[in-house]
Amino acid sequence: MNLKGQERVKEVLERIQGRDRVPNALLFFGPPGVGKTVASLDFARGILCLSSLPWGCGECASCRHMDRITKTILSEEWDEISLYQEEEGKRVFLYLMGDHPDFVFVPPHGSSVKIDQIRAVREFAYSKPALSKRKVVVIDRSDLMTRESSNALLKVLEEPPAGTHFILVAETKENLPPTVVSRTQQVEFPPLDRETFTQLVDDPDLYEISGGSVTVAKLIKERSDVLNLVDEFLSFDPLKVYDTAKKLEDTDSKGRDLFFFLLEDRVYRMFREGKLSYDDLEVVMRRIAEIREGLPKGIRVDLALYTLYTLMEVRYHELHKG
Ligand SMILES: [Zn+2]
Repeated sequence: MNLKGQERVKEVLERIQGRDRVPNALLFFGPPGVGKTVASLDFARGILCLSSLPWGCGECASCRHMDRITKTILSEEWDEISLYQEEEGKRVFLYLMGDHPDFVFVPPHGSSVKIDQIRAVREFAYSKPALSKRKVVVIDRSDLMTRESSNALLKVLEEPPAGTHFILVAETKENLPPTVVSRTQQVEFPPLDRETFTQLVDDPDLYEISGGSVTVAKLIKERSDVLNLVDEFLSFDPLKVYDTAKKLEDTDSKGRDLFFFLLEDRVYRMFREGKLSYDDLEVVMRRIAEIREGLPKGIRVDLALYTLYTLMEVRYHELHKG
């Protein structure tokens, strides 16, 4: 098993496997970097295992295939196992399959999970298993499905193909249509505890700021440039803010996500330290949430950041005048 920590989640999943009544669709949700994707791969290994052991026996043909696929997926060396399809001269990414005929893994293609991917999944779902008794589809970041995609998936979940199990992985269930959520058994992943976090990230100081997320902690380590941008922005010096806004406009999407994640954390801290009133906190957080939602839709980041600055600056200084 690759999943670290998350003892309560392991218990829940073992109970589901033990009763041999794995639901047609499960939803693993929780913050990034707390083991959801790893758990989905571990759990799939158990479902597909030819000896039917809860997490897989590790010896049978199915487990050996799953171990190879898991390694490849977790190292993000996807190219060799990705399935593409030519459509009107366009190369359309469908899913990752590796060499297990009864398992597919669907990560977002670009910034969303696209309808072509769900159509391919549907075809896979209604075919017969080839090696194992059952089949598994993992949709990673199912919260990034387009409306079209989630409607197509909903149709499949409404007429569940016998013996095919869906594991939807999501950072929030709010971004999934309630009609999809209601057809799943939900498993919530909390932030990692301090001990597990320290085992995985050898910098315990990052625990608070990353919110117990390994993914965020690794990003912070790699992206000190983004940390600096947050500091510059919160200097409330108009020239520095202008500069930050321009730099952020040129930053890749991972860097931007991290920027707003860290900014939210800092804004909360300002509130806790009495530098922002509760009402102001609400206004500012709502604005940040709006910007984060707008990011995948291609809003101008520099403009959004500048309006956020005006919003925060006046509140911050008013509080400190008197
Ligand atoms: Zn096995």
